[in-house]
Amino acid sequence: MEETTIDNGAEILSAHSARVGSLLVRRSLPQRRRRTVGAWCFADHMGPADVTEGSGLEIRPHPHMGLQTVTWLIDGQALHRDSLGSEQVIAAGELNLMTAGHGVSHAEEATGHYRGTLQGIQLWIAQGDDLRDDAAGFEHHADLPHVEFADGAATVLVGQLGDARSPARGDHDLVGADLRIKGTMQLPLQSTYEYGAIVLDGLVELDGRKLGPGTMAYLRPGRDELTVLARTSSTVILLGGVPLESEIFMWWNFVARTRAEIDAAYDSWRNDDGRFGMVDSTLARVETVAPYWRAREG
Ligand code: MN
Repeated sequence: MEETTIDNGAEILSAHSARVGSLLVRRSLPQRRRRTVGAWCFADHMGPADVTEGSGLEIRPHPHMGLQTVTWLIDGQALHRDSLGSEQVIAAGELNLMTAGHGVSHAEEATGHYRGTLQGIQLWIAQGDDLRDDAAGFEHHADLPHVEFADGAATVLVGQLGDARSPARGDHDLVGADLRIKGTMQLPLQSTYEYGAIVLDGLVELDGRKLGPGTMAYLRPGRDELTVLARTSSTVILLGGVPLESEIFMWWNFVARTRAEIDAAYDSWRNDDGRFGMVDSTLARVETVAPYWRAREG
């Protein structure tokens, strides 16, 4: 893991590799030195990988609480199923936003008809204390607002960028946007936000530093614009938000504040007591070992 501090305060962080389902991912959040960017607490760049009609993703049914999952594909298609009964194919350029609240479970699978390249990013937003125990929800958005620049375009996934606001549920003061750049893009920023710029494809320069896939630039609050230079066609995910005031506690697929909350969620999933519902999937449920602070249970 590499981190370098440069004069104006930007930090360059390298993603680490992980396996999710059958895909290798580059995980930019959380990191030891940078757990969150605003309320964004998880960022996995999946693929690019070759998938078939029947295989390639295989993220088996698993639970969430206290967070929203934001799924955005760069290439390909996938099938989302959840315990609310949602069954939704998501294609490149579309957004799935699932709100866990007190509890939800989901699977991400092959579509049955798509064969080709699959690439995307999955992000989590830590829900605030006012909403994190509420009901679960799911939204799909095929049409999202674009902001045109001379040398590229931004798609606003969640929140607001400049004057463009996403129609997706916006419980938090944050932004998530997809940037396609070839040339120079001058982005409007909110000075109260901290930002992370995650490069998915290409090569960009930001604050005089070159960034390729697998790196994230972190910017502290206090800026009202950012210039990104791309000499080749590049794709960047911009995350921003007001820094969290209180610490969150993450374990496995759960976002909480205390170990007791995690213990209760773990027990509910292990005992399948109904809290996380059931996903209509041909894939088997994901089981996990007990939290590290508990004695191993048989
Ligand atoms: Mn998930």
